[in-house]
Amino acid sequence: MIAQYSREPNIRPNKRVCLRGEKCPVMELGMRDFLNKCGGAAVIDGGFATELERHGVDLNDPLWSAKCLFTSPHLVRRVHLDYLYAGANIILTSSYQATIQGFEAKGFSKEEGETLLRRSVELAIEARNIYNDRVTKDSNDFVRDERYGRSRPILIAASVGSYGAYLADGSEYTGDYGDSVTVQTLKDFHRERVKILVGAGADLIAFETIPSKLDAQAYVELLEEEGIETPAWFSFSCKDENNVASGDSILDCASIADSCRQVVAVGVNCTAPRFIHGLISSIKKVTSKPILVYPNSGETYNPDTNQWVESSVEAEDHFVPYIGKWRNAGASLFGGCCRTIPRTIRGISDAIHEKPHGKSI
Ligand SMILES: [Zn+2]
Repeated sequence: MIAQYSREPNIRPNKRVCLRGEKCPVMELGMRDFLNKCGGAAVIDGGFATELERHGVDLNDPLWSAKCLFTSPHLVRRVHLDYLYAGANIILTSSYQATIQGFEAKGFSKEEGETLLRRSVELAIEARNIYNDRVTKDSNDFVRDERYGRSRPILIAASVGSYGAYLADGSEYTGDYGDSVTVQTLKDFHRERVKILVGAGADLIAFETIPSKLDAQAYVELLEEEGIETPAWFSFSCKDENNVASGDSILDCASIADSCRQVVAVGVNCTAPRFIHGLISSIKKVTSKPILVYPNSGETYNPDTNQWVESSVEAEDHFVPYIGKWRNAGASLFGGCCRTIPRTIRGISDAIHEKPHGKSI
């Protein structure tokens, strides 16, 4: 089963002959195999907090969507299911803003914080099991659409937000943590959390909304120092076609990701749709790893007012018509970030599976 590829002993590095030289991209082959099983392109899920809010949750909290891990885990499972029914091949756990430090600030013990982190992965696995069971039982209802067949591969990606997401002060959108924060600070901050998420059974680690080179470098060193054998993806948030949120070059950032053996895909998320095409072209220049894109709706977040400001250019799922163009540009994993909903993801799934590849929309 593809869902277990990250834990199969025979895909560990240095245990298989690689035709591409010493730097054996064995984990990358696992991702390419997964993409082939998905039909050449995979569907990532959409905005988690946005969907929780649609179910009536008030997320005005420093823990943001991670709050639901202890207040309403059934809704976390429900949102995962919403996205599986929308056609997602990869569902991201509710751990973006879940950290042991954040839970401790809420009065939980370290052990309770660790349990909540594990719970984020377990809830996603439970949703996948429920979905697969229902599809099996209701196979007659789904048989007309092979996307919903039993064999559809589904991976659980453990979401890891940046240090700024924990600070909840808007710095996740600037990467500006002050001069005192070093690569070592960031490694120490993420170390236990990443190990717990991996230990809980995630198939992938999704380092998301990465705002700077410093963050990317810390993740690379962390993966290497800990010898993490679960594949990861690096996804940067970008402020224009050439630069990530901090102003660092996307070329530099994607090169750092490319250098890491454990990284199986590189791309961008939480970025306005109008920048995506140029960013794909840039990333392609420095890596041959699969490219992922999961933009936001085009609205922008104002950290001063904690409000989303509507863009006159794009709204909600208006980027779906560009999926074919982005696929032609070289991306192969597509989803949505903030302010996207299951309908957006269904639109992406339709675009991938029903529109002829090679035809720009
Ligand atoms: Zn986002």
